[in-house]
Amino acid sequence: MSRSSTGEMPELVVSSLGSGSNGNAFLIEFDTTRILLDCGVPIRTLLACLAHRFITPADLSAILISHEHIDHMRSLTQLLKRSDLPVLATYGTIAGIEHLDRAETSVVKPLEAFEIGPIEITPVPVSHDAREPVGFFARSMAGSVALFTDLGEYSDDNLEFAARADHLVIESNYDESMLRAGRYPAHLKRRIRSADGHLSNDDCATFLCEIVSQKTRDIWLCHLSENNNRPENAERTSVEALQKRGVHRSISALPRYDGTVKTWRSSQQSHQTEQTRLF
Ligand SMILES: [Zn+2]
Ligand SMILES: [Zn+2]
Repeated sequence: MSRSSTGEMPELVVSSLGSGSNGNAFLIEFDTTRILLDCGVPIRTLLACLAHRFITPADLSAILISHEHIDHMRSLTQLLKRSDLPVLATYGTIAGIEHLDRAETSVVKPLEAFEIGPIEITPVPVSHDAREPVGFFARSMAGSVALFTDLGEYSDDNLEFAARADHLVIESNYDESMLRAGRYPAHLKRRIRSADGHLSNDDCATFLCEIVSQKTRDIWLCHLSENNNRPENAERTSVEALQKRGVHRSISALPRYDGTVKTWRSSQQSHQTEQTRLF
């Protein structure tokens, strides 16, 4: 069992460094292991958010990439100039990232758990229009988190890993009525709604109704569309759907990549996540 120098059990700390259709990055920390999960926010924002957690790129243990879309790996090249971090991703994701030196990468396989220090990670396949996209389930001695950022529909595996997590980060991309009334061309609306696209607020609420149990402590709604959603719409849809079932949970929509860091700690009670706007 890993203990800190003070003899206390370390806590699992999960931070959002920004989330939305244009940029996503998360940090998972347990003791001295620090994993960056996606790096799709601008490098200046990313470095400022890491500094807020007292971390430089050289302090990271690894970078995990969920899929090759730009909003998940925008700062990868610049990060690798500042450190020689291992990049872990599925074979398809690595193949989909241009100019990536394969010597820097390690292939991870869907549903095959691996360890980075004291954190066990399982890549979980998701339905999305990328080569081999995955979400992640991360488990430590102190707690667990599941993160599913981009998925057009969900599978039994997605439900199963989400149900095991203390903390759940799940996509709530668009408000159906805003998408319908919005200016996007028909083909783009079709792509967003498709099985390879994104979860709507209603889809997300249905997902939560299927999995939320005593185990689920806090829920963050991620990857909100800037044009087709509002944080209050996303939160209200999921909160009301759960309330109809007599379930009350802390649910909050994640801020976009505007220099806001939102942090969850396994040692804290629900509703106590910290949020700091850096600039
Ligand atoms: Zn994507
Ligand atoms: Zn995305």
